[in-house]
Amino acid sequence: MPVRTALAVVAGKATGSLSRLTGRGGGTTFPGDVARYVDPQVLRRLARDLKGGAVIVTGTNGKTTTSRLVHAVLEGIPARVVANRAGANLIYGATAAAIAVAGVDGRLRADWGVFEIDEATLPAAVDEIQPRAVLVLNLFRDQLDRYGELELMARTIQRALEQLPEQSVAVLNADDPRIGELGSHLRRKPLWFGLDDRGAGAQSLPHAADARTCPRCGATLVFDAVYVGHDGEYRCPNGDFARPALDIAGRHLRLEGLDWLGLNLDGQIVEARLGGTYNAYNVTAAYAVGRALGLEPAYIAERLKTVAAAFGRQERFEATGRRFTILLAKNPTGFNSVLRDSIELARGKRYLIALNDRIADGTDVSWIWDVDFELLKPSVQIVVPSGDRAHDLAVRLKYAGVKAEAPQADLGRALDRLLELTPEGEHAFLLCTYTAMLDLRALLVRRGWLRPYWST
Ligand SMILES: [Zn+2]
Repeated sequence: MPVRTALAVVAGKATGSLSRLTGRGGGTTFPGDVARYVDPQVLRRLARDLKGGAVIVTGTNGKTTTSRLVHAVLEGIPARVVANRAGANLIYGATAAAIAVAGVDGRLRADWGVFEIDEATLPAAVDEIQPRAVLVLNLFRDQLDRYGELELMARTIQRALEQLPEQSVAVLNADDPRIGELGSHLRRKPLWFGLDDRGAGAQSLPHAADARTCPRCGATLVFDAVYVGHDGEYRCPNGDFARPALDIAGRHLRLEGLDWLGLNLDGQIVEARLGGTYNAYNVTAAYAVGRALGLEPAYIAERLKTVAAAFGRQERFEATGRRFTILLAKNPTGFNSVLRDSIELARGKRYLIALNDRIADGTDVSWIWDVDFELLKPSVQIVVPSGDRAHDLAVRLKYAGVKAEAPQADLGRALDRLLELTPEGEHAFLLCTYTAMLDLRALLVRRGWLRPYWST
């Protein structure tokens, strides 16, 4: 082990302690920046110490929850698992995570790694980490409809997957047309997963759907079922492209509120304490990773049962005699999924919706015009628009015909208004973009309603 790597670990650890002392919370990547400055090969060297190997999770939506599921599966082996935290999903975040569990001798004290990585960083991450499996969840456009962006992302992912070591497996969502296309060009066959339950799918695409054309001939794809966004059972009417045959198929999907789901995978009944169709994908994906690594179906199912929602994602708590659920949504597909599921499965009637426009949220909020806020109209009683762009949100809601409260940019005041309007014993939903979720959690911690996320 080169001295330089040990020095990088020590420097990174010192930076980590310093940022904790100065009150920077979880999710920081700064120790990773410092360590990579000292030794640019630090992550590559530390990753070699993982006796089991590493799993990389990428895609637009669901990375954090699915990484948690994979983490739980591996931890039960039993194994020591290193994982990067939510919001630190660049190569620096992965490096920071590895440093945190490395000894000052520059050796990693973990058997397995689970790293959530942005699509754009995937080639570098695959090169440095040399993972056993790469999971690609979905490719939705993030916030803005930038022409050709999905195709560019698909090509970046394809390039990374071509670089996978010989024994490694690409675990791909067959239900996503762009992933279906990129995976069918790989030299080695990927492991395809998807949902196969036409009863649970919709018949038409929501209006935020963004991959509706055949990547080969440009014709409009036909969907026999749509599960989330543009993910479903698709085929080209010209017969040159269709969803790849599923190796792992999620069948007999059962959803109960936002608290539970069950489905049949490979004949194995799998249950999880997570709700919504999008989580059925996350569970199926994590199960497929377990299978790709050679784990037994019954064992994987047992482990998946133990996982609760990740912080700020369907996080539930009780306070002032009322029940609350935090829902995170970062783009039109995410918003449509959580709106639909919370209304249909959890009979949501009261919402605080917080929209921010900081860098992590996307600074242009025009994407809210692609969210089907009309879903709120028939049954929802209270909507409090909040966040930095509360006024834009209020305008969007007005056009959707949704009767909303006056916009309240201040989250604390918006929460107070929601409390006034929510009787004791009732359930309210807090639907936020990413930075609004962080602000809201901080506010709830100050009020003593939640624990800070880095101490649990
Ligand atoms: Zn076609």
